Amino acid sequence: MPIIFYGLKQIHFDRSADGHIHSACPGCGQTGSLKPVKKVTFIHIFWIPLIPVWFKNNVKCSQCGYTGKEKQQALQR
Ligand SMILES: [Zn+2]
Repeated sequence: MPIIFYGLKQIHFDRSADGHIHSACPGCGQTGSLKPVKKVTFIHIFWIPLIPVWFKNNVKCSQCGYTGKEKQQALQR
């Protein structure tokens, strides 16, 4: 019987086109390094994402890699 690798995989999609976040990063304190991302959790089989199960709007820091909720940082256009 073949072994099937499966599980959950998270992918961050860039949402910079939606606007910019001007508040400071909670991780490194740098202003302007946060960008909006959409975090999508997929069910994967052999690390190939197949079925999206969760969507979440997050922010990600390009300097330190901090990822967090978008709530505190308002998106400014
Ligand atoms: Zn940071």
